[in-house]
Amino acid sequence: MERILVTGGAGFIGSNFIRYMLERHSYSIINLDALTYCGNLENLRDVEDHPRYTFIRGSITDRELVNRIIRDVDAVINFAAESHVDRSIQDPEIFIKTNVLGTQTLLEASRREGIERFIQISTDEVYGSAETGYFTEETPLAPNSPYSASKAAADLMVRAYHRTYGLPVNITRCSNNYGPYQFPEKLIPLMITNALEDRPLPVYGDGMNVRDWLHVEDHCSAIDLVLHHGRDGEVYNIGGNNERRNIDIVRLILRELGKDESLIRFVEDRPGHDRRYAIDATRIRNELGWKPRYSFREGIRETINWYIRNRKWWENIKSGEYLRYYERMYGHR
Ligand code: NAD
Repeated sequence: MERILVTGGAGFIGSNFIRYMLERHSYSIINLDALTYCGNLENLRDVEDHPRYTFIRGSITDRELVNRIIRDVDAVINFAAESHVDRSIQDPEIFIKTNVLGTQTLLEASRREGIERFIQISTDEVYGSAETGYFTEETPLAPNSPYSASKAAADLMVRAYHRTYGLPVNITRCSNNYGPYQFPEKLIPLMITNALEDRPLPVYGDGMNVRDWLHVEDHCSAIDLVLHHGRDGEVYNIGGNNERRNIDIVRLILRELGKDESLIRFVEDRPGHDRRYAIDATRIRNELGWKPRYSFREGIRETINWYIRNRKWWENIKSGEYLRYYERMYGHR
């Protein structure tokens, strides 16, 4: 394996993954990204001149372009997606186009070109809400939002290409990520950046929804292991064993920043809001020896400091389209 196509590499996890792989391996990496509202080449400024890195602007739904690129690669890792649940509630169609049709376009080209490995970066949200217990890889898919339904549909298409055409695939289903370069519409960077600006912190419902949080670098190390040692056709759950209530995360961020809890505003709950996600990552731990490196305390401190040090990065984002979106969601700026 010499050349890897990473799609959606200008987003949060994709950009962290490209940096991670360039540092640790000798592969050439092609990044195909459409640069939608959350794709940002600033995320890769430090590697843009790297001799083993190439950027191509384009969509995973562009069949001709995808065919041309995949002809020259050995593996495909598909991060490209519309990724925000709230946006999927407002406008589901683009989620089907990108997440389902885009994935199928990549699969079809990969099958024709006989690539060595296709990895689909999926999410624990495809399992729906866990009132009790933990999601294993055998838990039935029961997505509740247009976002998670589109990701589940893509997962099933990946499975079908494996079963029907013998395409070598893996699917990874990870819990909520946090870390540097995350777009500030997502919970942790939204709360950090609003707190830094002394703006209200909007918390959905009663704030008691539970998520399992994993540092993005630990997600990257898991994908690296799956790429090299994953069993063909297998699904791997990835999670940090680190369940937290949203409100506790918000309070922790305020405490770390020395800000007052009076900034918290409870807002109307998200429709269909899953109460709890909880991942059982035993398979990847036992089979591939994966272990997260970050404790949540250490990871969240580092992340807060990153947003303090990189104020320009998020101030540039929190303007224009972002402000219009924010106003629509929360009724104020
Ligand atoms: P992100 O929204 O930050 O990045 C998505 C990237 O995909 C952007 O750079 C965007 O420009 C690009 N993109 C969108 N449509 C495209 C298209 N048609 N063609 C090419 N590129 C396109 O998302 P993220 O948080 O980095 O998530 C990456 C992947 O990981 C997604 O597939 C998501 O479902 C999955 N995932 C995310 C999390 C999380 O907590 N963020 C957890 C589990 C799984």
